[in-house]
Amino acid sequence: MKKSMKIGIMGGTFNPIHTGHLLLAQYAMDACKLDKVLFIPTGNSYMKDSREILSGDVRLKMVNLAIAGVEEFEGSDVEILREGNTYTCETLPELKKLYPGASFYFLMGADSFLSIHRWKSPEIILANTALVVVTRDGVSYERLEEQKKFLEKEYGGEVELVSFPTIDISSSEIRKRIREGKSVRFQVPEEVRIFIEENGLYEGN
Ligand code: ATP
Ligand code: MG
Repeated sequence: MKKSMKIGIMGGTFNPIHTGHLLLAQYAMDACKLDKVLFIPTGNSYMKDSREILSGDVRLKMVNLAIAGVEEFEGSDVEILREGNTYTCETLPELKKLYPGASFYFLMGADSFLSIHRWKSPEIILANTALVVVTRDGVSYERLEEQKKFLEKEYGGEVELVSFPTIDISSSEIRKRIREGKSVRFQVPEEVRIFIEENGLYEGN
């Protein structure tokens, strides 16, 4: 019998994509034996100040530059094509239609994991995907375990904590360094760094 395809979902603003996102995807893929990881930039996030966020097209372009040549990684426009706010609870049913029979693994760092019960319809999210979580910003394993127990009890969700070397990189810090005229070499893939520089992205306020 053909086994069902295991698809990782790497959602994020990706403003811009950086090495932390890519390592998270790679570690999750290895830990959970995923066949593929979809990188899905958000549309206009309702949680962030939208003035600072570049258009979906540009953020997806940087994603595609970052993952070029990696066969298992793929950029997806499902969220940026949607009007207005994008919600994970709406993206998952769309992905189910695109990949019938696949099982889904939503990849995330500790900050997203600790707030996911406040996202729109967490019960729909947890009924449709497992969560694959890595630590970030010094969040303890105990704190992650506690949240895992809470989500499993509250929503019957499936959560996998994956061991990960703390990667202290964020898009905010990258944008700040660019504003200050500093280099982001090695924080983002070289192709992304060149694209940002050539287009003068994130330079102004
Ligand atoms: P910003 O600073 O603009 O919020 P970010 O670096 O947090 O950007 P996002 O696009 O918000 O990047 O993150 C998408 C997902 O990737 C989130 O689940 C986040 O927790 C995770 N993530 C981002 N950077 C890291 C990192 N360095 N280590 C672990 N997880 C990360
Ligand atoms: Mg973030």
